[in-house]
Amino acid sequence: MAWRCTGKTNRELIENIMKAKILSSTESSQLERISRAMQAVDRAHFVPEKSAAYTDSPQSIGHGATISAPHMHAFAADYLLPFLRPGAKVLDIGSGSGYLCAVLHHLVSSYADDEPGKVVVPGKVIGIEHIPELVDWSLANLKKDNQTRRALENKEIEIHVSDGRLGYPSDGPYDAIHVGAASPTIPEPLVAQLAKPGRMFIPVGTDSQHIMQVDKDAEGNVTETRIMAVRYVPLTDKNKQTPW
Ligand code: SAH
Repeated sequence: MAWRCTGKTNRELIENIMKAKILSSTESSQLERISRAMQAVDRAHFVPEKSAAYTDSPQSIGHGATISAPHMHAFAADYLLPFLRPGAKVLDIGSGSGYLCAVLHHLVSSYADDEPGKVVVPGKVIGIEHIPELVDWSLANLKKDNQTRRALENKEIEIHVSDGRLGYPSDGPYDAIHVGAASPTIPEPLVAQLAKPGRMFIPVGTDSQHIMQVDKDAEGNVTETRIMAVRYVPLTDKNKQTPW
């Protein structure tokens, strides 16, 4: 399904997402942050079918995986935004194409006013993906842009081949965790690796799925909020992921 925000260019696609008034952030400074980060990432670098790069729909990236629709990536950035301050550490489980890792990188980095692209406060984004071919492809995608190529060189973005259901404990805790595939239940290791405070955005369910926002407060208390119905590919065993 091509959703309503499709554009002819990356700029038009992001402008349409912002104009659609679908995000929960209301302050213009918050919306501006999301818009700037998404404008900085050309979706055409992350899709096999370039002619549909700015169509607001998911696209197959092979191996039974899809790059999510652009409005879903905007929702993810929107819900995680309060935890994406410059210098924050983020985990992206099921990083697939690498697109959201690039957007998250821009959200957790702050740049010099006088020198465009110069990072003053570096954040850290760790992508976890269990299909090695997709990890290689996402790294190649991220290298197409100078800013994200530099971020890879400086380890401000890392992508690892691993089972995302276990998180990535050696680098935790994480201010924000995004999960890009639907899990039958909320994996306990991911909750354990959330910082105090921290927030996770995760699709949960099998036949019927919904986004859950999992918040951990400064004392470590965890609350779960159901956000919206969705359709994601499953967070599963590598050998159970069926290519379409
Ligand atoms: N955010 C990505 C979503 C890709 S689809 C994007 O927009 O490009 C979901 C991804 O989760 C797929 O790439 C799939 O291979 C991966 N995945 C599924 N189960 C996984 C697991 N147990 N561990 C790590 N990655 C997993």
